[in-house]
Amino acid sequence: MKADVGAGTAEAPHSLMDRIADVREQLAATCRSVGRDPSSVRLIGVTKAQPRDDVVAAVEAGLGDIAENYVQEARSKYAGIAGARKHFIGHVQTNKAKAIVELFDVVQSIDRIDAGRAIARVSRRLGRSPKTLVQVNISPTERYGIAPDEAHGFATQLRDDGLDVDGVMAIGPVTQDRRAIVAAFQAAARAFERVGGTTLSLGMSDDWREAIACGSTMVRLGTALFGARPPISGGGEVP
Ligand SMILES: *Cc1c(COP(=O)(O)O)cnc(C)c1O
Repeated sequence: MKADVGAGTAEAPHSLMDRIADVREQLAATCRSVGRDPSSVRLIGVTKAQPRDDVVAAVEAGLGDIAENYVQEARSKYAGIAGARKHFIGHVQTNKAKAIVELFDVVQSIDRIDAGRAIARVSRRLGRSPKTLVQVNISPTERYGIAPDEAHGFATQLRDDGLDVDGVMAIGPVTQDRRAIVAAFQAAARAFERVGGTTLSLGMSDDWREAIACGSTMVRLGTALFGARPPISGGGEVP
């Protein structure tokens, strides 16, 4: 994580509540600096590898949206946590579709037709209608996702299958080249325009400023909020 993000969160001198407030202030300032209304960007807390107590504390401190990459981890960690919207941001394995629909309100990572169909089928059966996003691939360092040019056709197929597709999610390239990050985010923003919906989920701890400048409506922050992730100990799934 870079020192200019989260202003001192790497040292973590203050409490989780202070960090959430700090991050909210920085998000708002960045929105205003690019002429956007701060209320147009939603903050999601990415809780992977973080202890449940911190998640509970963050939700009590007013964090209304939390996200996990791993079904197994969410199952124990999110049990009994009410009052927060839960987002799935990991790779959708079709044999986990039922657990995903049971555990999460939003599935951000629909990256292929099999995954979409599995989520649609299980949702119908369970009488649930999770919001979903098309995961678009904008990075040579990212394994999953639909090519930006194919996102619109893909979203149409998903909607025909009955999914509530509300926009696009993407993971930025892992690079320090800020212009490459902006170019990638612009490609995601163009895909979002064609897909439609209300949500462009772009931006993590190292690149949320560029994401906001490129129109993100949802930033997914882990380390900037919770501090460095402790190493995953046992039972970790392959993403
Ligand atoms: C881990 C993760 C995040 C958060 O990453 P940080 O760099 O800790 O903010 C956001 N989105 C996805 C899909 C992730 O896997």
